[in-house]
Amino acid sequence: MPGFELFGNQERKELQDVLDNGVLMRYGFDGMRNGHWKAKELETELQKTFKVNHAQLVSSGTAAVSVALASAGVGAGDEVIMPTFTFVASFEAIMMLGAIPVLVDIDDTLTLDPKAVEKAITQKTKAVMVVQMCGSMGNMDALQEICDKHDLLLVEDACQAIGGTYKGKPLGSIGDLGCFSFDFVKTVTCGEGGAVITNNREYYINSDHYSDHGHDHVGNDRGAESHPLLGYNFRISELHAAVGLAQIKRLPEFLAMQKKHYTILREELSKIPEVTFRTVPEGGEESYAFLNFFLPDLETARKTMEAFKQEGVDVCWNYYDNNWHYVKEWHHLKDAKSLYPLSSDIKAELTKLKTKDFSQSDHFIGRNISCLIKLSWTEEEVKERANKMVKAIRNSL
Ligand SMILES: *Cc1c(COP(=O)(O)O)cnc(C)c1O
Repeated sequence: MPGFELFGNQERKELQDVLDNGVLMRYGFDGMRNGHWKAKELETELQKTFKVNHAQLVSSGTAAVSVALASAGVGAGDEVIMPTFTFVASFEAIMMLGAIPVLVDIDDTLTLDPKAVEKAITQKTKAVMVVQMCGSMGNMDALQEICDKHDLLLVEDACQAIGGTYKGKPLGSIGDLGCFSFDFVKTVTCGEGGAVITNNREYYINSDHYSDHGHDHVGNDRGAESHPLLGYNFRISELHAAVGLAQIKRLPEFLAMQKKHYTILREELSKIPEVTFRTVPEGGEESYAFLNFFLPDLETARKTMEAFKQEGVDVCWNYYDNNWHYVKEWHHLKDAKSLYPLSSDIKAELTKLKTKDFSQSDHFIGRNISCLIKLSWTEEEVKERANKMVKAIRNSL
């Protein structure tokens, strides 16, 4: 997945443009910048790549999720349904707005189970956040149907699935709003950065203002601009945008490499009858950023991880005991260990997490192994890796 593996001359060239004029900020300083608007150019590229009308760059993927929700009016007391398997950023972004994260089970897609989503809807539910984990996606038709029926927003966190598609549409472009991260380990990197994409002009305008202190961005005198609404600072810098601009143009190259490496590994692993693969919804095509497979049980998955270590097979994870990606070890969340007071309705929901039954999620995450697909591997290395993986799995069964 990580675009940083192939950082090279294109990235250096875009960065040099910014260094040559010294305008590190994305707004203003029109005269000094010699026509270089890296953030604006990257936004245009994102619109083309993800086939949407609007893209708003921000400082991180976490900021993107928060800005997306805020731009559609999600805030204090609103419930946002999210999965048990994701990155901690999901609940952080929700809670930053005073909204309430409601965690629900995943299914064999490793993303939101539509049935669990429907069960969790209350009078306070405002949005459903599907997290397109590890290069693939949720059942978008089923989720969209639920959102339509209950008049809820559908927000897509596509941070880990840049380049995946569902029924011909890029992931991120399907829901009301889509979010990307361009942090250092994502398929496309800016170093740090993120983006909100949408076809809704009002949400876009809101995200543009909200991510820059409420600036309306009218005219060319920043100091004289008006502030129609309250905002914060989630701006990206020109330096970061410059790196992303070089990287986004290389996305087709990155995706082709991911697919090639993924396919070699998958074909070898398919020879083991006990190995099954995550379900990709009909009409979906993964980004191939990860290869995810299931073993018969948690015990075998743990043994396999141990055997991978012995064989030197790195960048694979069983997320069951992981601190950052799965609800089981999110004790700081369950104990509401906040530096500052949280609202009573957020605390009440977090307390429930200590006793909520997530055995369905345990069933899938416990048996799953998720392997990152690197861009820098040679074909030889991938083949050698495939053989080591098969050997380690066979020995663990
Ligand atoms: C990386 C990631 C984020 C957060 O992105 P940052 O840019 O690191 O803030 C959010 N959601 C998912 C699923 C991610 O993988």
